[in-house]
Order: sequence, then structure tokens, then C-alpha cells
Amino acid sequence: METTPARERAAEREHDRERDADRAALAERAARLDASDPLAPVRDLFTLPGGDGGDSGGPGGGIDAVYLDGNSLGALPTHLPERLRDVVTRQWGSLGIRSWGESGWWTAPERVGDRIAPLVGAGPGTVVVSDSTSVNVFKALVAGTRLVAQDRDEIVVDATTFPTDGYIAESAARLTGKRLVPVDPADVPRAVGPRTAVALVNHVDFRTGRLHDLPGITAAVHEAGAIAAWDLCHSAGALPVGLAEHGVDLAFGCTYKFLNGGPGAPAFIYVAERHQGRFDSPLPGWNSHADPFAMSSAYAAGEGAVRGRVGTPDILSLLAVDAALDVWDHEAVTVAAVRDKSLALTDFFLDCVAAYAPPGRVASLTPAAHAERGSQVALRCAEAPDVMEALIARGVVGDLRRPDILRFGFTPLYVGFAHAERAARVLAGVLAEVGA
Ligand SMILES: *Cc1c(COP(=O)(O)O)cnc(C)c1O
Repeated sequence: METTPARERAAEREHDRERDADRAALAERAARLDASDPLAPVRDLFTLPGGDGGDSGGPGGGIDAVYLDGNSLGALPTHLPERLRDVVTRQWGSLGIRSWGESGWWTAPERVGDRIAPLVGAGPGTVVVSDSTSVNVFKALVAGTRLVAQDRDEIVVDATTFPTDGYIAESAARLTGKRLVPVDPADVPRAVGPRTAVALVNHVDFRTGRLHDLPGITAAVHEAGAIAAWDLCHSAGALPVGLAEHGVDLAFGCTYKFLNGGPGAPAFIYVAERHQGRFDSPLPGWNSHADPFAMSSAYAAGEGAVRGRVGTPDILSLLAVDAALDVWDHEAVTVAAVRDKSLALTDFFLDCVAAYAPPGRVASLTPAAHAERGSQVALRCAEAPDVMEALIARGVVGDLRRPDILRFGFTPLYVGFAHAERAARVLAGVLAEVGA
């Protein structure tokens, strides 16, 4: 009869064989998926953080750092520095103040807004780039309350929202004399009624990556006679939004996440065409005036998207967004192609994690159903802070949402299937070491 240690060794060898077979199969699947990926060539348009090949001798075998944090800061489009150099040296340095007209600076917020519009399913003249998302939350909420009867005294807000939206909603409610009603997005249809002025919901939950039902929730808000305001920070540039198709009233979102506009790049705000004439901004700066250079002491709101503007646009950042949007001109890049690949990538990453990770160490918070999934995978892990630190040290860049969430953003424009496989493999290795 075999001794116990010998049996154990045999079992270990069997386990190793299975794991190697899993790896070979998943690596092969990654190679097949990458080979048939219509967006694969688009990756060359980006310069990726940590992508200096410093890891090429490692187990990654020729692929550079895996950047899975594009849902926090999108990667640099390679042509962008040269474009910004022109803005700085020629437009500002040589043309100087003439650039407000000759270089199109003054109208850039609407022009760049018109380039974002098709990505979120909005018509021309309905999106303007201006200020931060936080400021746009304020504009949308206060202006939203001004679009409905004043006896509507409640603002319904997504209780799971990214904090800034909640903080600002609380202040907007105090300022407008409304009561704030925080509810889970799924409960918004039940929470809205004759007292609701505005409902603010995040399209994709920043922690879990859950995609909320924009058409259904918007319809319920309208049924109640209220205004639907959507935060698109984690959906703009990642998946179809359909603002016009679903009759969304107001929306806003970041340009530095899936739109790759650069750190702190200005946000956008959408006002449905039917509301533009009555959109009464709580921050009616001179840029939103019908005739700003009349320098009139009396305010008269401009027509259309300009009403979303406040003060002088942040030209350098705004034109960085403009340059970044050029990648959407590439023939392979459509929102539908991005969405298809995003779902395939997150499915594949989840499969790899299931195959590689030691059992019971991570649990996915990301919905399995495609209809409920954004473009990220969130894994709950007791040792998340140590695990993320070790992952980043090994070239797999995700981020941590304290206390226990590992967040991996998948930007289909520059993340491939081999990256997903490698990220899961490195994660499994880290899990085996940390807290084992
Ligand atoms: C990233 C993000 C923000 C950021 O707002 P800023 O004003 O740009 O700091 C706001 N809301 C959501 C949902 C986000 O994901």
C-alpha cells in the first residue's frame, strides 16, 4: 500500500497537471479572441502606463503592464501630446488672444460636446463640455427642480452613488428647500411620485460595476411627472446609453475615464432639446449668456447647449479631450464594438479568475447578466488592500475601493484578452502568497 506522503505527492502532481491544462486552454482562448478582435489595432493608438516593456522577461511573455484602471483615469492617446504642444506653442504662444476666434476656443465647449453626443446617443446641440462632474450634478439637480411644479418637494437620489453626487444632492436639496430621498436605484420606480421633482441615478455603480436600467427607471420617473437626471461617468465611452432614445431629461459625466481626456479633464452636461428653452442654470455665468461680449448687466440666457456653460472654458484640458476623441474616428471604433468586447473581456476575466484563484478567496460583485454589467469587474476580497498593492507591484494595475473591493476596469480600446488572462494569473499568484 502506498504511503500517505506518496499519495499526497501524486495528488499534487495531478492538481499541477490540471492547473497547467487550464492555463494552456485559457491562454489559447485568449490568443484566439485577440486574433479575431476588431479593436486590437486600436491599442497601438495609446501609450499605456507602465508599458515600457520592463516586465517582458516575466511570465507575461512579451506583453507589457496590464492597465485595468481606465475607469478611473483613461490611458494617454499617443498623438495627444503633439496636439497639445500645438495648442500651447502656436495657438496660445503665437496667436495668443486671437485664438479665441481663430482657433475656435470660444465655441470649443459646444463643438467637443457635439463629438461626445453620438457616444451617448444624443443629438447635436444637446451636449456641452464644461466644469467638473461635481459641478454638473449641481447644475442638473437645481435646474431640474426648476423644470417642474414647485410643490414637488422631493429629490430622489441613488443611495449607492459615488459620494460627490450624494454630497451635492444634499446641498442642492437644502438650497431649493426640497427633501432628499436616498433609495437604491432598483427602488427608484417605487420611490417616485407626485412629490418628486428630480431623480438622480448613476448609470453604472462605481463600486460593483452594476449597470442600472436606464430605460425602465427613466420611464418610471416620467410616469411620476418628474425629471430623470443620469450620471454617466462609468458608461460614457463604455456602452450604449441612448439618451435621446430613452427620453432622458438631463445627464452628465466624466471625460477622463472611458473617454481618455486626461486627469481632471472637464465633464459634459446634456440637456434634452425639449428642456433647453426652460433650462434655468443655478450658475448662470457669462459664458451662458445670449451675448456674452455685450457685457450687459442684465442676464439673458443663450439658446441651446451654451446654457450649460458657466465661465471661461479650461482650454488646455478641453482640447486634450478633443484630441482624445479622435480615436473614435478610427473605422473599427464604435460604441457597439466597444460594448461587445467589454462584455467578452469581463466574461473571460471572470472565467480566468474562477479557474485560477484559490477557492473562496474572492467573490465577484459584478452581475453575471450582461444586461446588468458595466465595463468593470469588482471582486470582494478580505485582503484587498495588500492584494492590490502586490498586483500593482507586479504590473497589474487595478484599484482598491476600501475596505475590501478589488476593482478592475476594462477599456476595450486598449485592453486585450491576453491581458485579462495574465491579470487573473497574477492575481491567483498574489492570493496564494498574501494571507495564505
Ligand atoms: C468619477 C466620478 C465622479 C467624479 O466627479 P469629479 O467632479 O470629476 O471629481 C462623479 N460621479 C461619478 C459617478 C463618478 O464615477
